[in-house]
Amino acid sequence: RAKDMGRNTFQFYQPEMNTSVGARLNLERRLRRALRDGEFLLHYQPQVDIETGQIVGMEALVRWLDPEVGLVPPSAFIPVAEESGLIGPLSEWVLREACRQNKAWQDEGLPPARVSVNLSARQFQQRDIAKLVMAILEETGLEPQYLELELTESTIMRNAEEAVTMLAELHALGIGLAIDDFGTGYSSLSYLKRFPVDRLKIDRSFVSDIGASSDDETITSAIIALAHSLQLQVIAEGVETAAQLDFLKERACNEMQGYFFARPMPHDAIPEMLQQAGALSARAAAGVPA
Ligand code: C2E
Ligand code: MG
Ligand code: MG
Ligand code: MG
Repeated sequence: RAKDMGRNTFQFYQPEMNTSVGARLNLERRLRRALRDGEFLLHYQPQVDIETGQIVGMEALVRWLDPEVGLVPPSAFIPVAEESGLIGPLSEWVLREACRQNKAWQDEGLPPARVSVNLSARQFQQRDIAKLVMAILEETGLEPQYLELELTESTIMRNAEEAVTMLAELHALGIGLAIDDFGTGYSSLSYLKRFPVDRLKIDRSFVSDIGASSDDETITSAIIALAHSLQLQVIAEGVETAAQLDFLKERACNEMQGYFFARPMPHDAIPEMLQQAGALSARAAAGVPA
């Protein structure tokens, strides 16, 4: 598993840590230090228009560079950050850093793309989240159409009535909204129609079984059709093979994200990525074979 996550990754997290109060407090203390000392960083994973091959977005994925153990994945610290209240300052840092970075890329003259930021359930429950987003957009100078927030289906459905209001406030800022891990929660279709969201993000668990499970193929097809009929965009996450991509393309899925195109990468790899994909898709548009 640790090998899957790339070099320099050290997976220190053990499930029994969950049950040990001492270990949890220790992790909490180290997370506090990490925030104070700037030990968090963002990796970015491209989101690609399936039709044109152009990079239209990048998902910001937080990592913790712990000086003692190396790069720590979010699954090992987001839950503890949520429980301890550290998720507030952490999310704010992620949001600010992603907006600042994206604006800097645009100022360098790179092809513009939106940046997607994951919002935790805790963060979404804060009533003033729209105010914070607005302040960060103003501070960084990023235009709202270049920011998207990803909220999981279960986060939104936990309090669906309130979510309608919160999503409307966020949407009024002009930013994009996506429902993450779609298909794993229990969206009521009548709510889905009322949520002012732009995009459904098909959960990786369905996408990864394309070619292996006809049930998951059926669910994937149904989500794409549902999105289209509600006039929503749809993106598939966790695309790893050409066969999965073909399946999605045939069903007119709009975008894809996954190892097949690119793994999440450090910020300094993004400029070259944006430039290359921009050049490729310009040639394709002009009818020049690659
Ligand atoms: P997510 O939002 O569903 O993010 C997608 C996860 O799938 C990422 O894992 C990404 O590295 C992984 N992934 C992408 N393409 C593929 C693929 O083709 N195959 C496979 N096997 N995996 C793929 P990561 O970076 O470990 O993030 C895990 C989760 O942690 C994210 O799931 C998200 O829920 C959460 N997370 C990450 N960054 C943040 C953040 O800044 N704030 C909050 N609240 N949560 C975050
Ligand atoms: Mg996400
Ligand atoms: Mg997801
Ligand atoms: Mg997921």
